[in-house]
Amino acid sequence: MADQNFVAGEWAPAHSGATDEIIDPATGEALGRVPASDAADVHDAVQAATAAFDGWSSMAPRTRSEILHRVADAVEEDMAELSRIECQNVGKPTGIIEFEMDLTLDNWRFFASAGRFLEGKAAGEYLDGYTSYVRRDPIGVIGSIAPWNYPLNMATWKLGPALAAGNTVVLKPSELTPYSALRLAEITADIVPPGVINIVCGRGETAGVALVEHPDVAMVSLTGSVAAGKAVARAAAESLKRVHLELGGKAPVIVFDDADIDAVVANLRENAFYNSGQDCTAPCRIIAGRRVHDDLVARLTDAVADIVTGDPFTDGVEMGPLVSHAQRDRVAGFVDRAREGGAEVTVGGRSRPGAGFFYEPSVVVGVEQASEIVQREVFGPVVSVQSVPDEDTAIAWANDVDYGLAASVWTSDVGRAMRMTKALRFGTVWVNDHLPIASEMPHGGFKQSGYGKDMSSYAVEHYTEPKHIMIKH
Ligand code: NAD
Repeated sequence: MADQNFVAGEWAPAHSGATDEIIDPATGEALGRVPASDAADVHDAVQAATAAFDGWSSMAPRTRSEILHRVADAVEEDMAELSRIECQNVGKPTGIIEFEMDLTLDNWRFFASAGRFLEGKAAGEYLDGYTSYVRRDPIGVIGSIAPWNYPLNMATWKLGPALAAGNTVVLKPSELTPYSALRLAEITADIVPPGVINIVCGRGETAGVALVEHPDVAMVSLTGSVAAGKAVARAAAESLKRVHLELGGKAPVIVFDDADIDAVVANLRENAFYNSGQDCTAPCRIIAGRRVHDDLVARLTDAVADIVTGDPFTDGVEMGPLVSHAQRDRVAGFVDRAREGGAEVTVGGRSRPGAGFFYEPSVVVGVEQASEIVQREVFGPVVSVQSVPDEDTAIAWANDVDYGLAASVWTSDVGRAMRMTKALRFGTVWVNDHLPIASEMPHGGFKQSGYGKDMSSYAVEHYTEPKHIMIKH
């Protein structure tokens, strides 16, 4: 496995020689070591990206598109190995990896083509004697910082639109999950010109901070926690860098009395526990009408009890471990405190003893709107269920969190669905489903879930600046 930084098309250790150990979450054992980079390593990568910018940004969109389609081809050819790396590094069951790898490939194909559709909105005579037009220019060197939950997919959401728009990138993967980004660099090294994609491994407080503070980085794009987003926005303000933030979520699932409860239970069983619940849009906060609440809790409890948890490489396993010991402790803390506060855990609620960072899929009921488990992102295999008296209270509770990334509404009443989708303050609202995703559609937050969109043409536009050209006749 590639285990060095990738800078200017070459592999390099950290200047300091320091390394970080990478852990297999299913066993707790070491997988290997990667550079623990600092400001000197980040500086090299930013210089390489700066040197590559003129050539990459000056290419015709068609030429860049052809290169990015070859990146997509390389991802497709290497799918088995990329999937294996991702399953081992994050603890994802091999039986569930296909969905996100297929999305990753489709994202690459979408961005490869979307860069050809960038356009300014106006061309004309807006003052007598002048012709104006608008062009969209790339921004420059982008510092991209990715999380650990979908390492290659999140790297793709960072790299794809930035490169398609003509920028060059220094990507810092999560310190827990660097291997798929390094593999991507390895399989595309002969396709993408040197310096266009640079990968620097390391921690947030060292390599991440250095990237955000570097004067030659024009824009920072982070996917991560709200706390990291605030730190990045504060640091970027010093030099007024552009900032793109995709942060945490706490998705409500509003189930009205006229909903198809079988469909709700099937969706929650699959999607609330997908990737061990480590998904920013995971359906995790169920707000159920009074008449369906008890039936929903009973059926969901039975369904969740059946989820097969275990070794990611064993056939039939549906849920693997959490990504780290710290993340498992964090999740356990939320459930323990909810229990101490009077909530009932109808299924799960414990760590699995032995090796690996396993936590049981869990359902918590009898929780107050103001309680921590309703208000804060758990980012684990835990859902809470609340009983709600009416539509207005459902809207109020759903919106009453700091986050605003995703939500779903379950009802057979079209009018109610329309009212709810308007009233909910979230970047994505599903009706009678929760989690499907398409490359053409924007993904991003309201409120403290961040700003700037991933995927879609909105993402490509976000990595450009509109420029007004005015010509006197
Ligand atoms: P995290 O915030 O701990 O780390 C994310 C990345 O930021 C890592 O690479 C880390 O090294 C870096 N980082 C941390 N502090 C930094 C700083 N001060 N300066 C620069 N870089 C810094 O998040 P995580 O635990 O890796 O990921 C989980 C979080 O990501 C959850 O909150 C989840 O909701 C969020 N997430 C959001 C989306 C989305 O699309 N909105 C998608 C996936 C994950």
